[in-house]
Amino acid sequence: MNQNGQPRIGVFICHCGTNISNKVNVYDVAEFASKLDNVIVAKEYKFMCSDPGQELIKEQIKEHNLTRVVVASCSPLMHEPTFRGATSEGGVNPFFFQMANIREHVSWVTENPDAATKKAKALISAAVRRVALHDPLMKKEVPVRPEVLIVGGGIAGIHAALTYASSGKKVYLVEKESSIGGHMSMLDKTFPTLDCSACILTPKMSEVGKHPNIELLTWSEVEEISGFVGNFKVKIKKKARYVDVDKCNGCGDCWNNCPTTITPSERIIRKGDMIIKKIEKEH
Ligand SMILES: Cc1cc2nc3c(=O)[nH]c(=O)nc-3n(C[C@H](O)[C@H](O)[C@H](O)COP(=O)(O)OP(=O)(O)OC[C@H]3O[C@@H](n4cnc5c(N)ncnc54)[C@H](O)[C@@H]3O)c2cc1C
Ligand code: SF4
Ligand code: SF4
Repeated sequence: MNQNGQPRIGVFICHCGTNISNKVNVYDVAEFASKLDNVIVAKEYKFMCSDPGQELIKEQIKEHNLTRVVVASCSPLMHEPTFRGATSEGGVNPFFFQMANIREHVSWVTENPDAATKKAKALISAAVRRVALHDPLMKKEVPVRPEVLIVGGGIAGIHAALTYASSGKKVYLVEKESSIGGHMSMLDKTFPTLDCSACILTPKMSEVGKHPNIELLTWSEVEEISGFVGNFKVKIKKKARYVDVDKCNGCGDCWNNCPTTITPSERIIRKGDMIIKKIEKEH
């Protein structure tokens, strides 16, 4: 802030070689940005993410006593951490930083150079207004619960569970049906290799069942989720199965001799060509 409590903003516009500058008139944009409210300095540079580009930001912060930084370049996904780092090394809170994406959102998608330059100016103008309203944020470390909850035991959930579990994380795998396997368990061969589905799936299903880091909750559904990232509380409803799972050896006799046609399955069970159980579902 200056003595009047107004932010002192620096705007840095990247050419990205010619990726931006072949559509956006970066000199015109820098001139425009330098006249925006609270902007103390506006500079363009060939490759803003390069070491000299980052040094430029740090020098300008010191030289002009800047309190906010705007970089107009590529996607924040690509370089927001880079520029937050440069802002912080320049002595400004890294969250007093705003990025305007004038590459993916402008030069790469706009044919007309005048339209591209106009849009770049609009995005930078918005970024300058926004950064003036930022609050300083502080990073802090808090304890988190690293367990993983996976909802759905199809091939995707199974594979995710095994990957997390083998990296040492405790995994809860919740499946609403009586068995994991999902759609793949209903397929004979899988496109495009025509590999046998069961040959791929069943070893993974059995690995899930045996893995010491996986707690498998079949015939169960998530009822309630509360909390926040790193500290979730999840309520899971385990539906009645009328079977002592510790004693069941999976022989299947109960299935064949079950006196009711209402079975806990969404699937038509076939033996050869004969349908032996009608599709019904009761939860
Ligand atoms: C007829 C058919 C043929 C196909 N053929 C091929 C092929 O040849 N080759 C190929 O590569 N792919 C094929 N696919 C696609 C492939 O089967 C699917 O992409 C794959 O099985 C999807 O796996 P998934 O784990 O994402 O989902 P799913 O297999 O659908 O598994 C989702 C799991 O989540 C469970 N679930 C859902 N909601 C909840 C909830 N609220 N709580 C708890 N559990 C829940 C379900 O019961 C299920 O077990 C085919 C699909 C179909 C339908
Ligand atoms: S900051 Fe982004 S837009 Fe600029 S040179 Fe690096 S990658 Fe290209
Ligand atoms: S009959 Fe077989 S599959 Fe059914 S509950 Fe008893 S042991 Fe398990």
